[in-house]
Amino acid sequence: MPTTPAPAPFTADDYRARMARAARSAADAGLAGVLVAPGPDLVYLTGYQPTAITERLTVLVLAAGQDPVLVVPTLEAPDAAHAAGAAALTLRDWTDGKDPYAVTAPLLDVDGRFGVSDNAWAMHLLGLQKELPGTSYVALTEALPMLRAVKDAHELARLEAAGAAADEAYGEIVKVRFAGRKETEVAADLAALLMKYGHSQVDFTVVGSGPNGANPHHEAGDRTIERGDMVVLDFGGLKHGYGSDTTRTVHVGEPSAAEQRVHDVVREAQQAGFEAVKPGVACQDVDRAARAVIADAGYGEYFIHRTGHGIGVTTHEPPYMIEGEERPLVLGMCFSIEPGIYLPGRFGVRIEDIVTVTDDGGRRLNNTDRAMAIVE
Ligand code: ZN
Ligand code: ZN
Ligand code: ZN
Repeated sequence: MPTTPAPAPFTADDYRARMARAARSAADAGLAGVLVAPGPDLVYLTGYQPTAITERLTVLVLAAGQDPVLVVPTLEAPDAAHAAGAAALTLRDWTDGKDPYAVTAPLLDVDGRFGVSDNAWAMHLLGLQKELPGTSYVALTEALPMLRAVKDAHELARLEAAGAAADEAYGEIVKVRFAGRKETEVAADLAALLMKYGHSQVDFTVVGSGPNGANPHHEAGDRTIERGDMVVLDFGGLKHGYGSDTTRTVHVGEPSAAEQRVHDVVREAQQAGFEAVKPGVACQDVDRAARAVIADAGYGEYFIHRTGHGIGVTTHEPPYMIEGEERPLVLGMCFSIEPGIYLPGRFGVRIEDIVTVTDDGGRRLNNTDRAMAIVE
């Protein structure tokens, strides 16, 4: 099996640039700074991912005109100092028994408004607010939705590798037996294939057979797959810290004309969404392009979710391809295009690729055949 070498790690300079950009964007948005909790934002900005996220306060404070400071519990400080981005920031540790909010407060503007990671613990935010009653807070996704949305060349290379690995997994899954096996068994095969092709983490392995395919939230269950079933396969995870997410819908044996027709419509919708991609185009226009095809074919009420979501250090993040999202596509953004039709009690069809924005339009990071595969 061909394995690609691991990409060069991000450097302190990479993290320094990301933190500086975040502080600048915050200032542009009228914020005094950004408070970053352990999770995807902290990984993106510093490379630091605590092994266990506990009730002890860890927070990165970014403010314009001030060096980045990472407040950490003393017992976590050695690990934090090992993060690649640690060279670009100051560590300030606090020991058990001390008040972590009193340690953090001097770093903050006493009446400032701060962007806060979506996943910060409410307990910590309330602690800071109590210490500094004049401060106010806004969710980072609301304040700086595009903070992680534009990928640089190194991030793009990781997303490409993750997409290629997911494609390899698909190439093998269509050769396994479906008829007579449970959805969970095929899902386990998919997970094993993602790991075989270099993923470190599997986030989801949807196997929606027959009527289960009509529920976009169905993961995989005890249903035994039968000949004649449509099967939605939607799978992804992280490879070298960046995400994959692709969907193909296959059929066990020969499909009926009606099944083929629905699949053709979704495939055409996915293509229309892809062709709408261009720098400067509003995100909602990608959704509209895909949705128009499905609506024109008479299935509009059966396409019950947005057309796509961004992907990076997580498998679901801004930008969202959804009606009402007027922000423009920017060179280097990466997101899914995944229209679907869900016929309750019968079957579902979804086709999904990750796409990146280039000067010439979209470029797919998933390149397996989008025609309906016939499986056994
Ligand atoms: Zn069928
Ligand atoms: Zn997906
Ligand atoms: Zn997706």
